[in-house]
Amino acid sequence: METKLLDVTDLEHAGEKLAYAGSVLRAGGLVAFPTETVYGLGGDALNPNAAADIYKAKGRPSDNPLIVHISEISGLEQLAGRVTDKAEKLMEAFWPGPLTMIFEKSGEVPLATTGGLPTVAVRMPDHPVTLALIREAGCPLAGPSANLSGRPSPTRWEHVYEDLSGRIDAILQAEPCRVGIESTVLDMTEDTPAILRPGIITPEMIRDKIGGKVVYDPALFVNRPRDVSAGGTPGGRADGSLLEQTDGPAPKAPGMKYRHYAPRAEMILYQGGAAAVRQAALKRKAAEEAAGRSVGLLLFEGEDARLVAREFFAELRKMDASGVDIILAAALDTSDPVGFSVMNRMLKSAGYRVEQV
Ligand code: AMP
Ligand code: MG
Repeated sequence: METKLLDVTDLEHAGEKLAYAGSVLRAGGLVAFPTETVYGLGGDALNPNAAADIYKAKGRPSDNPLIVHISEISGLEQLAGRVTDKAEKLMEAFWPGPLTMIFEKSGEVPLATTGGLPTVAVRMPDHPVTLALIREAGCPLAGPSANLSGRPSPTRWEHVYEDLSGRIDAILQAEPCRVGIESTVLDMTEDTPAILRPGIITPEMIRDKIGGKVVYDPALFVNRPRDVSAGGTPGGRADGSLLEQTDGPAPKAPGMKYRHYAPRAEMILYQGGAAAVRQAALKRKAAEEAAGRSVGLLLFEGEDARLVAREFFAELRKMDASGVDIILAAALDTSDPVGFSVMNRMLKSAGYRVEQV
């Protein structure tokens, strides 16, 4: 299939292109779209065939549920069963924005969209193109990240093209994503909301709004091998503050257990003071180069975790494109909640290979 490129950077003059994309989606087709977090791969969330095609295009395991995107808070009614007062407060505070909430699903949401689960993940994205596209389509849009399963998430339309060209109907071209890591996923089906996937909406921000407790899914602190499905083993030493054990509960978000965000190159994280990290990385670089291997450095020195979040996936793809054999990266400070969220991705990218320096 030929994948159409539709430039919607100039949104005011993109009416025809959005109308076309909407008609493709209504007919069960797939259109990739920008959001503030990462690019998403859109299909009609209420059409089980469209959902099945999303899994096929991405090569995604079929038990890994899709997030459903809506353009108005009122769109939640059709999708969710019980919506608590806490959830109401959070959507008022953070929608549109990078917070996904999990609810019991309604009968209208097909199991093909939820990976067979009785719950549904919903988000209202904070991007004018996404909101306009959902309105044009006239249906909620299932929208996982628009990459091949396992690859770094796409934060520019070029990344989507690289992975999915020839596999989907169209790509909406817009600016690079401003957040750069995926939304915070929050389970609202229990009394105490639980963060299943950390993002830039932090526990403190959530706690402030609901005036009560919020917890991290304990599975976030488990050291998992690079490819669990293939039975791989963890390499290197775990980050004691982030990863306290090598075995433990399975994550409640099925997607969190899979090999993820992996560059083609081997990757090692260095953890310690900035100067020591730099020294260790440069020493390793020299040794690798002496052995004929090319090395990419990702030290992000002095950068704010939010900026690292924005650039991290793009940097991994850049390194792959330039053909490096090994990426040496500095670990982030996980006492900062955004640093913790980016490290959640970094650790997976590196297959949990961490060296303390
Ligand atoms: P992505 O679509 O790539 O942004 O990934 C979506 C993430 O949300 C994955 O980690 C999913 O496992 C998680 N997720 C989506 N729906 C649910 C749900 N109903 N219950 C738990 N986790 C979910
Ligand atoms: Mg993804």
